[in-house]
Amino acid sequence: MTYDPNNIFAKILRGEIPCHKIYEDERVLAFNDINPQTPTHVLVIPKGAYASFDDFSEHASEAEIAALVRAAGKIARDAGLAATGYRILANTGRDAHQDVPHFHLHIFAGKDLGRMIKPAEK
Ligand code: 5GP
Repeated sequence: MTYDPNNIFAKILRGEIPCHKIYEDERVLAFNDINPQTPTHVLVIPKGAYASFDDFSEHASEAEIAALVRAAGKIARDAGLAATGYRILANTGRDAHQDVPHFHLHIFAGKDLGRMIKPAEK
């Protein structure tokens, strides 16, 4: 997947589209999902131009990777989610239905999330 600089999260990073910001540092931005699937649904993205987890895990620096993981944990802790639990998910590519081609982690929380993944119809 090649990086499209006009994807919606790139526009959010450039300030061209608003977001409800939850967290920001030098390398990471987090904001509420516009169409939340759970009572808490936060998207955590690197500021670097990475199209997917595949791209990020291969090409991001150690500092960028550490920053994203540290930020996701801090966001969850600061929101009080560690006590009741949460789920982190990164849809990657076609079969995972990744819609936005800028790498992002979803943080889901605020209710019983059920067990893992419901298989799609065959
Ligand atoms: P994906 O399917 O790529 O893993 O998830 C993309 C997510 O981005 C979806 O949950 C969708 O609701 C969210 N999203 C799409 N457009 C916007 C937007 O303009 N603003 C925000 N905050 N979230 C968006």
